[in-house]
Amino acid sequence: MLDFLEMGPFILIYLTVLVFILGLLIGSFLNVCIYRIPLGQNIAISRSHCMKCGHVLQWYELVPLFSWLIQGGKCRKCKEKISIQYPLVELGNALAWMAVLFVWGFRPVTILYCMCASVMIVISVIDERTKEINLGLNLFIGALGIARVVMDYRNWSYYIIGMLAVSIPFLIIVIVSKERAMGLGDVYLMAAAGLLLGWKHVLLATVLGCALGSVIHIIRMKVSKKGKELAFGPYLCLGIYLTILFGEPILKWYISFLVQK
Ligand SMILES: [Zn+2]
Repeated sequence: MLDFLEMGPFILIYLTVLVFILGLLIGSFLNVCIYRIPLGQNIAISRSHCMKCGHVLQWYELVPLFSWLIQGGKCRKCKEKISIQYPLVELGNALAWMAVLFVWGFRPVTILYCMCASVMIVISVIDERTKEINLGLNLFIGALGIARVVMDYRNWSYYIIGMLAVSIPFLIIVIVSKERAMGLGDVYLMAAAGLLLGWKHVLLATVLGCALGSVIHIIRMKVSKKGKELAFGPYLCLGIYLTILFGEPILKWYISFLVQK
């Protein structure tokens, strides 16, 4: 008979595979959100269908990643091309979850961070397309933040200050620039993320987001020769996600660096 220690790695691998598959399935749901939220459609009721011919998708056409691959990225009925965004969001979500699981392990906070990553995928794709960040999505991250405060209630002030640390300066920028530099959606996003991460972490997320945003945006402008208008949300989300993964070691290194001086 296997004892617990011997079974340990197998259970771990089994659970990891399970999380990956769940990540693909939730990724599939994120695609529905990405398509329907900007149109103001209900994300739960009607069944998924081909955007062109209206063909209602059967269960075997809704298997994340694999359906798209097997069908060669086309609708089975009308052969209309299905955007590569669908499998990319599914795989992206599963991989984003894997990385969080790898860093944080099987702990309650992992669930919060995975859910935050998923919501940020939806925010990023919609913001990139429409330049709007849906309030409901920001409120969802805010709810994750409240759960974080409850879990770590002894350090509640760290998170409450986090909620204000970036959102207040951003709000001032929004008012002064009359929403040209950034939008209220960015303010709410950083308030919600600040509540989830705490103040040092949300400051780091903002620095990372702004730095990556300016570098990537300049490259993209040169490559695509497109307009200057910047959807800020995706870069802020990237900063938040990187802080979830690497915030602890970066902050530790930075503080030890300050102490040495
Ligand atoms: Zn079709």
